[in-house]
Amino acid sequence: MRAAVFPEAGRFRGRAAPSFPQPLDSPWMGAVLMRGADLAQRIRADVAREAEELGGTCLATVLVGDDPASHVYVTRKHEAAEAAGIESRDHRLPASTPEEDVLALVDELNEDDGVDGILVQLPLPPGMDEARVTESVLPVKDVDGFHPVNQGHLLLDKPLHVPATAAGCMELLREHGVPLEGQEAVVVGRSQIVGKPVSLLLLAANATVTICHSRTTDLAAQTRRADVLVAAVGRPGLITPAMVKPGAAVVDVGITRAEHGLVGDVDAQVAEVAGWLTPVPGGVGPMTIAMLLRSTLLAARFRRGLLAFPAA
Ligand code: NDP
Repeated sequence: MRAAVFPEAGRFRGRAAPSFPQPLDSPWMGAVLMRGADLAQRIRADVAREAEELGGTCLATVLVGDDPASHVYVTRKHEAAEAAGIESRDHRLPASTPEEDVLALVDELNEDDGVDGILVQLPLPPGMDEARVTESVLPVKDVDGFHPVNQGHLLLDKPLHVPATAAGCMELLREHGVPLEGQEAVVVGRSQIVGKPVSLLLLAANATVTICHSRTTDLAAQTRRADVLVAAVGRPGLITPAMVKPGAAVVDVGITRAEHGLVGDVDAQVAEVAGWLTPVPGGVGPMTIAMLLRSTLLAARFRRGLLAFPAA
């Protein structure tokens, strides 16, 4: 049945194309799931070892407002930091906090020699200037990689702090040996925190990159060309099996809370046609926190002069 629906499925992962229709005992078992949990655990164990060697690393977070998901994410980041032996400082402010007070807190953390990394959890409450607050974080402490200095260095192929989710996508692809050089990569979504940075990282890995967004006409025509497809939109089921090239590696960044739990942007049936696929939950999500911890260590190294951070 699988072969009838997706007559080319199976022509992937470097294997020769089998003939179709395939016999019922076909070895094709669906996409290899690129699970983030195990890899993230290994990265977190490495971070813990290195944090112990470095000593006294510290991550400070700033959360403004009542967004329940943000509170959950920040709590998880603190748990992960503590588990890795990284001190974490948790600043949670009411939504009514004036922007100037948030900026003053960030400034205090910038000046605090005991703080290596600063993370301002987004989104900020409506009316607050997100760019202004993000840009107030010292670039060397900007573990999220959102500051224009860090975004600029990524553009220049000289990455310093890289947005954690984008870095996590690349680690998952690398871990599973997905070929990138010379491959067609299509990224759906062009946000500063996921779509654009992951596109630049794929480009740096010598993929040929297309970026799609809400104004793209005929999205399916673009995605069907992709050997590597990254969906970072936040629309459940946007990517259907018919939009995926058989054998492609599909990275589902999307997270939407549905009645039955978290769902990604990629229809579950895509597992029948893709060569590799990240599950939701348990794919990119765990990688984001692991990469944030790695970024905190990087900040600590920059600040101790163990690695060079360019002068502003
Ligand atoms: P944004 O809302 O900032 O960006 C969404 C992007 O999707 C925009 O570029 C938008 O286009 C594009 N888009 C919207 N609708 C369509 C459409 N119908 N067809 C094609 N493109 C479309 O979201 P984020 O980048 O912040 O996050 C994306 C998803 O990833 C969300 O579900 C978020 O929850 C999840 N996420 C997951 C993380 C993880 O750790 N797994 C971390 C961060 C985010 P346009 O620019 O034209 O508006």
